[in-house]
Amino acid sequence: MRFVVTGAAGFIGSHLCDRLLEDGHAVVGVDNLLTGSMANLEHLEGHAGFHFILQDVCEPLEIEGPVDGVLHLASPASPKDYLQHPIETLDAGSRGTRQMLELARRHRARFLLTSTSECYGDPLVHPQPETYWGNVNPIGIRSCYDEGKRVAETLMMDYHRQNGVDIRIVRIFNTYGPRMAINDGRVISNFIVQALRGEDLTVFGDGKQTRSFCYVSDMVEGMVRMMEADGISGPLNLGNPVESTILELANQILSKTKSGSKIVFKSLPEDDPERRCPDITLAKRFLNWEPKVSLKEGLERTIEYFKEKLKERGIETPSHL
Ligand code: UDP
Repeated sequence: MRFVVTGAAGFIGSHLCDRLLEDGHAVVGVDNLLTGSMANLEHLEGHAGFHFILQDVCEPLEIEGPVDGVLHLASPASPKDYLQHPIETLDAGSRGTRQMLELARRHRARFLLTSTSECYGDPLVHPQPETYWGNVNPIGIRSCYDEGKRVAETLMMDYHRQNGVDIRIVRIFNTYGPRMAINDGRVISNFIVQALRGEDLTVFGDGKQTRSFCYVSDMVEGMVRMMEADGISGPLNLGNPVESTILELANQILSKTKSGSKIVFKSLPEDDPERRCPDITLAKRFLNWEPKVSLKEGLERTIEYFKEKLKERGIETPSHL
C-alpha cells in the first residue's frame, strides 16, 4: 500500500515512516520542518519506498498515483514549541487537517488523525475515557494546540458524515523515546539531558502533577493497528495507563543516570493539567493493544540515545556518566 505521513520529520512521524516501510509499504513523507528535523529521516535517504516532500500541510497537496492512506501527524506538539508558534499550531490543526482531508477524499484513502489527550484539557474525570468531553480553556496559552486538535476532530467527523471519508481518530497521550530533540522542551527529554549534563532538573510546580508515559514503539504499534482495523473510527485513546508524578519521574531519571544533579522547583506554566491518565479499555477491546515497554525499560533506552546524541554534538557530560 502507499501512505502519506504528515509530520514525517518529527519524533513520532519518523518512527511511523520506518515501521510502514518495514511492513513493505511505500511512504510519502510530508513536513515543513517548523519543528521536525531532516536528521530524523537521514537513514531513509535513497530508500526506494520513501519519498519526501517539503511542504506546509496548510497548502493544497497534489500526489501523483494512488494513495491508500493518509496519516496526519503534522503539528508542533511540545508546549514549548506551540507557545512559540501558536498561529501555525492552530493552522496545522484546522487548515492543515482540512487540506489533508481533501487529499484523502480525492484519493478515497483512509485517514488517521493523531489527536491528543489535550482534548481533555485539565480533566475533571480520571482516568479519561473517550466519552469525556473535557475541561479546556478556549482562550489560554495552550488553546492553540488543544482547540486546534478539537477542531481537527470536528472536521474529521464532518468529512466522514458529509463526504463519506473513512476516518480514524486516535488521541495520543505523552509519548517519549529516541529522536526527541535535545531542546524539545518536554519533560522526559529535559530531565534526561539535564541529568546527563549535571545540570539541575527543573520541576515545574510542586511536581505532584501526573502524566502517563508511553514508549514510542508502543504508540506506533497502536497507530498501525488503528489504521488497519475495520469498524472503528474513534476517537480512541492510545497511551500508557501507568501514572507517575513528575517528581517521581525526576527521581527515577536521577537514579538511572547516576547523576549528581539536584532538583529545583520552577513556577508551573499556565493551564498545566494536574492529572492525566488514559483509559485504554477501547484500545484493548478493539485493537487488542496495550503498551509492552515499561517506563523503566523505555527510560533506559532513551537515556542511551541521549548519551550518544550529546557525544555526537560534543556536548560535555560529567565523566562518571
Ligand atoms: N515539566 C517539568 N519540567 C520540565 C518540563 C515539563 O516539570 O522541564 C512538567 C510540565 O509542567 C508538565 C509535565 O512535566 O506538568 C509534562 O510536561 P510536557 O511538556 O512534557 O508535556 P504536557 O503533558 O504538559 O503536554
